[in-house]
Amino acid sequence: MSKRIVILGAGESGTGCAVLALKHGFEVFVSDSGKVKQKYMDELDGLKVPYEHGQHTESLILNADEIIKSPGIPDKVDIIKKAKEKGIPIISEIEFASRYTNARHVGITGTNGKTTTTMLCYHILQNAGFNVGLGGNIGKSYALQVAQNDYDYYVLELSSFQLDNTYTFKPHIAILCNITPDHLDRYEYEFQNYIDSKFRIAMNQDKDDFFIYCADDEISVKNMATHKVEAEKLPFSYGKKLDKGAYVLDKEFNLIDNTSTNSTNQLTMFINDFALKGIHNCYNSMAAAIAANALNIRKEVIRESLINFQNVEHRLEYVATVGGVDYINDSKATNVNSTWYALESMDKPVVWIVGGVDKGNDYSALLPLVKEKVKVIVCLGVDNNKIHSAFGKEVDLMINTSSAEEAVQVAKRFANKGDVVLLSPACASFDLFANYEDRGWQYKAAVKNL
Ligand code: ADP
Repeated sequence: MSKRIVILGAGESGTGCAVLALKHGFEVFVSDSGKVKQKYMDELDGLKVPYEHGQHTESLILNADEIIKSPGIPDKVDIIKKAKEKGIPIISEIEFASRYTNARHVGITGTNGKTTTTMLCYHILQNAGFNVGLGGNIGKSYALQVAQNDYDYYVLELSSFQLDNTYTFKPHIAILCNITPDHLDRYEYEFQNYIDSKFRIAMNQDKDDFFIYCADDEISVKNMATHKVEAEKLPFSYGKKLDKGAYVLDKEFNLIDNTSTNSTNQLTMFINDFALKGIHNCYNSMAAAIAANALNIRKEVIRESLINFQNVEHRLEYVATVGGVDYINDSKATNVNSTWYALESMDKPVVWIVGGVDKGNDYSALLPLVKEKVKVIVCLGVDNNKIHSAFGKEVDLMINTSSAEEAVQVAKRFANKGDVVLLSPACASFDLFANYEDRGWQYKAAVKNL
């Protein structure tokens, strides 16, 4: 009798898993308690895979040999609790699909910078001529790619939720960008649980693998001592000279190649030449460059890729200059840390658009930057009280708005030639927008209409 696989969540990854599971002869059932997009229903119909939506029917789920859970489903929902009680193994798309490929994986996790670093790694590997797929938290389902056109390499963006249900997944290269508090609602409000989840990326690596981490991030460094990390450790730092990995000193980037004694084989370049600006992006560029180097990609390819990379939408994305004022879209900044880096990288007076759904933010880290750089705050959210109480004393003017268009109009009124209008909300977007992309698009549309 074939094994029964139940897939919970009929989105991009769930539907991809269905294709892969069918290919390997499993009996497949898909269940989604919410609404399923027409596109995925059509795909499942085409595959003749039975599915349900709007409910989880226990009798069809709790008879599974294995459950593949979408990363969006928290452990505390009823059906997951019951499956655990019954001892049914629960895995993620990453765990499942990695069983069916011999490819090498570059896995990227961290609180901030995952998407940017993932895209940059992918860009470098492509430029180097690798046969490489891109997946995880981004783009097309990894499982679908494994089923349809398996690659030699995959660059995977991995959220902590995806790592939570991996057990044997073993990336050849793991990048841990950084760790700051986020998503604590999914981790019983214990920061350590979230940290432990991130470190799962390294748990199956061995000494022939690589673990790339930020030497300036105390949380990462401290926890490396208490977690199993057998891979070769390659650090990166902004401001500290290192003898392994990469560092930036006096605005110069140095990539250290320990495999070569030939000094002409080292890569140095000015960070001003990086396509990605700001300290946070130096970190991302260093991490990607170390990964590429570990894969023996030529320095010239790495250099060119760091120069000609095109930034990812909604991340410190330059939109336009109108009346001498630059408009920047950083809608993806949904926590305080990412907004810190956005403000830090501004070198003109800032009209700052901030606000949305507060995830329990502590804004104190932003105070010095706001005092130094921000002239006007435009609040964009349903409830702006916390922003008013955090920054009311730091700026002369704070204005409430309730749409992207209104926020842009107000910002325009108070911005002078030579200023920058920065949307970097430090909050989630669900009070006024469908998601952060919607917020970014509405902002850009409003700027284009000025
Ligand atoms: P993630 O996929 O981890 O959310 P992104 O690359 O999408 O990361 O960036 C999310 C936000 O964080 C953006 O606002 C971006 O400007 C900021 N950011 C990017 N890289 C870093 C980093 N290394 N440290 C802190 N913030 C970052």
